[in-house]
Amino acid sequence: MAKKQFKAESRKLLDLMINSIYTHKEIFLRELVSNASDAIDKRYYTELTSGNSGVRKNDFSIEIIPDSDLRTLTIRDNGIGMTREELETNLGTIAKSGSQLFKEDDIDEGSKAGRMVSIIGQFGVGFYSAFMVSDMVTVTSRAFGSDEANMWMSSGTDGYTVEPAEKDTAGTEIVLHIKEDAEGENYSDYLKEYTIRGLIKKYSDYIRYPIRLEITEKDGSLRTETLNSMEPIWKRQKSKVKPEDYNEFYKDKFNDYIDPLRVIRTSVEGVSSYTSLLFIPAHAPFDYYTKDFEKGLTLYSSGVMIMERCGELLPDYFNFVKGLVDSQDLSLNISRETLQHDRQLAGIAKNLEKKIRRELETFLKEDREGYEKFFAAFGRQLKIGLYDDYGRNREQLQDLMLFLSDDQNKLITFDEYVSGMKEGQNCIYYASGETREKIDLLPQTAYARSKGYDVLCLTDDIDEFALRMMDNYNGKPFRSVTEEDMNEDEEKDSRERIAQLEEENKDLLAFLKDSLSGRISDVKLSSRLSSAAAGLNTKGGISLGMEKVLNSLPEGAGFKAERVLELNPDHEVFRVLKEVYSEAASEDSGKNEETGSPASERLKHYAGLLCDQAMMYSGLPIEDPSRIGDAIASLIISLK
Ligand code: ADP
Repeated sequence: MAKKQFKAESRKLLDLMINSIYTHKEIFLRELVSNASDAIDKRYYTELTSGNSGVRKNDFSIEIIPDSDLRTLTIRDNGIGMTREELETNLGTIAKSGSQLFKEDDIDEGSKAGRMVSIIGQFGVGFYSAFMVSDMVTVTSRAFGSDEANMWMSSGTDGYTVEPAEKDTAGTEIVLHIKEDAEGENYSDYLKEYTIRGLIKKYSDYIRYPIRLEITEKDGSLRTETLNSMEPIWKRQKSKVKPEDYNEFYKDKFNDYIDPLRVIRTSVEGVSSYTSLLFIPAHAPFDYYTKDFEKGLTLYSSGVMIMERCGELLPDYFNFVKGLVDSQDLSLNISRETLQHDRQLAGIAKNLEKKIRRELETFLKEDREGYEKFFAAFGRQLKIGLYDDYGRNREQLQDLMLFLSDDQNKLITFDEYVSGMKEGQNCIYYASGETREKIDLLPQTAYARSKGYDVLCLTDDIDEFALRMMDNYNGKPFRSVTEEDMNEDEEKDSRERIAQLEEENKDLLAFLKDSLSGRISDVKLSSRLSSAAAGLNTKGGISLGMEKVLNSLPEGAGFKAERVLELNPDHEVFRVLKEVYSEAASEDSGKNEETGSPASERLKHYAGLLCDQAMMYSGLPIEDPSRIGDAIASLIISLK
């Protein structure tokens, strides 16, 4: 029989497993038992929905048979089984997600151990873990409904064979030939009753089908003993479940290698009765922000798994939640099509949304540090939620948000911002930028600071869109510090003074605007520039930050924020501008020529430089760096 080769990625993975220095080799048993349990779930469900109402949970079991003489450990189930094709595709190639891992580079020796944990955790390469403890694996399987059986066999990376085999009943039997003991590695332990018992209790106690161990008595006789308690963890009395139990369950069931941050368990009796067990993961899965990510909870109907990932149970903004729902009121025959119209399900989803929200609120109150970790992983999703659906969910989500306070240099909630607002301050101020440091350099931020206003630093590209969609928080409007009408909180006198100065200098401002046409749409005076001579501002709906984000989208090219150059009327530079302007006006009078006088050329040059400077403050690229270069050069020469 010719050997078939594993797909390249599978081969690499196998290599890692075979030569594993991973310390938790024992998890192979959990993985195989878990696969067996899933296979039984599938068969149980298939039988029930194809009219065999007589089938019972008790008809199924997982058997574990150790044989010290042959050095084999057999794991047998009477689940759905696999056809020849399935044996090849399921065991000859690793999951799609797993192969992504190997696209980049080969994994170097040094980081193997660390990567191993994450491979096993994230990619659900369960079956392959058998090779951590075995030097030969055979899988004999007969698919439910078929009368043929096949045997898959492999001793590692040199490939595998599949050939016809004998098997009386549907299901799968996996025989591991356990490796010889080596230095520091007592593989023989995995053949011992004591070890197996411990591993099943530790990892697989909640498996809902009996896991039966075959025990050889001293006199050679055989007996079997059920090792697991079988009660699903979500049906067990709350006081009887330890936090570690939930963590183990979570990690096994949802292929994670880090404990969840929070566990939410509920039982509801009423119009629709259900039990749910939800987890908030500590980190985003590798494909979280990609199209491949699929949200959803596992759905059970009275303990029968009917859907692996039911998306209808979670709103998009809580798509990171993992877990399950078990309800006696759901029909077994629920399908993807009928799901959307199922009122029971919609009711459950609504309750779960509330429950998750409250849990997050409590989390935020009780454990700020933990919550910040959560927010670092999933805050972006919550912000997208603020924005999505035209802000329809803003009320639900606004109090879960954290933004960086410029004043305190830590993350704060909107509520905390508002309670720290100065008397007379009506708006919540924010500024967008790449980092807090860059935001700090904006003259407008300095101004807000000088007024005693805190500024929320928006460093994530979604931030400003979310805030604009919200418009206000409990009646307090959001205002960008670089927005033209940020002045809402400014004293009336100051506004009147600026208006008057603009009137007095309207010819100068018009001249500057004219000379900068194409670069900016207006020139104004502002009392908000602190020590800077000029700053950049925007008017209309699109800010500079938004312009950047929109233009980075494939279909977004060509968005432009309306830029306004603001000048500081109290700055020496403005006095110089006025002088040069009046010089130009007197030179020009009578001449009435298109090409201006030396003074007006000088003024145009200054306008260009001030505009460059303002753009730099705002983190924008300078169109013509040589203009600044030349100006600096002539400045230095003039000071010589
Ligand atoms: P995962 O369980 O994460 O999908 P595995 O490598 O453990 O990855 O298994 C690959 C696939 O092989 C499973 O998805 C399942 O379809 C099939 N499989 C594994 N073990 C069994 C089993 N005991 N009975 C039926 N199918 C199985």
